Amino acid sequence: NASLREFDPDVADAVDAELARQQNTLEMIASENFTPVSVLQAQGSVLTNKYAEGYAGRRYYGGCENVDVIERLAIQRVKDLFGAGFANVQPHSGAQANAAAMVALLEPGDTILGLDLAHGGHLTHGMRINFSGKLYNVVPYHVADSDGLVDMAEVEKLALEHQPKLIVAGWSAYPRQLDFAEFRRIADAVGAYLMVDMAHFAGLVAAGLHPSPVPHAHVTTTTTHKTLGGPRGGVILTNEADLAKKVNSAVFPGQQGGPLEHVIAGKAVAFKHAAGPDFADRQRRTLAGSRLLADRLAKADCAEAGVKVLTGGTDVHLVLVDLRDSELDGKQAEDRLHEVGITVNRNAVPNDPRPPMVTSGLRIGTPALATRGFTEADFAEVADIIAEALLAEPDLAALRARVEGLAARYPLYPGL
Ligand code: PLP
Repeated sequence: NASLREFDPDVADAVDAELARQQNTLEMIASENFTPVSVLQAQGSVLTNKYAEGYAGRRYYGGCENVDVIERLAIQRVKDLFGAGFANVQPHSGAQANAAAMVALLEPGDTILGLDLAHGGHLTHGMRINFSGKLYNVVPYHVADSDGLVDMAEVEKLALEHQPKLIVAGWSAYPRQLDFAEFRRIADAVGAYLMVDMAHFAGLVAAGLHPSPVPHAHVTTTTTHKTLGGPRGGVILTNEADLAKKVNSAVFPGQQGGPLEHVIAGKAVAFKHAAGPDFADRQRRTLAGSRLLADRLAKADCAEAGVKVLTGGTDVHLVLVDLRDSELDGKQAEDRLHEVGITVNRNAVPNDPRPPMVTSGLRIGTPALATRGFTEADFAEVADIIAEALLAEPDLAALRARVEGLAARYPLYPGL
């Protein structure tokens, strides 16, 4: 039983290098976060050894008495957190949660409405070569050219025209809140199910800083590792008992075999954190940080350099930067921020003239830095560094030094 370092120094070195990267740079990928040490411990535990096909109290394997305790805790905590009647905590990821929810609600060939990937939707909302695009007849809806907001008039028109069985509301790259009640009204008008994928904003919902989709949606799905700040994984929620049964059988045996009980333990711990006293403050700083960034990028120097903010601001944990009029494309801007020690991802803007590997935009998020402890003053400094980096001929060494100063002020995982 040699340690990782003793047995496999190649992997140990790469893990250590990744820890150093996370500690010494500013993580601003909107879908990432730093999970607490207690979650890392749960996830790195002996639970990884256990098979537990089935559900608590009804397993297909012996020896499940301890994982039953853990899975029941995870279910109760996530139900309490979001005020949901039923929860399935077994999906291995957000994509698996969406796949299972769709299997529960649909037959192959059914029509679904989802936000176009190129307008901020997720692969699993109907992208052509994703399972969702192959199994179902996908009708995409869009954001409006005029204001960059989801075009609810188009959603209604497409729903009436195509009579979908499912409408998916949710996004991977969108800086505003959706009107869940309006989505439900449209779904009801055509007899469709409404599924909300709150993967990105679930942490904000848990903190009461974003409207909850749970009372409106037939089924709500989420990841647990984005704003929620837990281990990588998925969850499905519903308030309807008959749908809960369908969801459970769609997850197991429909989609998955043995659940990842070590990850489910991490989820249970993360839900306890999310119900705790510091979580709402962290989500408040997350929002304050993204608003400060949007405000900074709206100033004259950025406007003159062709750097703009999609929809003119943000109500969530991310800002979408529009570089169509800038000298930089998305890839160049991502690389430039990487050079100063800030990690973001390039992102297509709606109707992007450039290919997906290049793009004309950036998606910049604040959850990980808020978890690290950044205050509004720190976020103002980060916003300034980003703005200056995106202007012509920045002093990259000076910006890098400012980033290093911020990173040093907030030690990440000390002692790990
Ligand atoms: N749903 C949305 C809205 C997402 O943004 C993502 C991930 O980016 C997912 C689902 C998929 O999550 P995972 O990467 O865990 O499969």
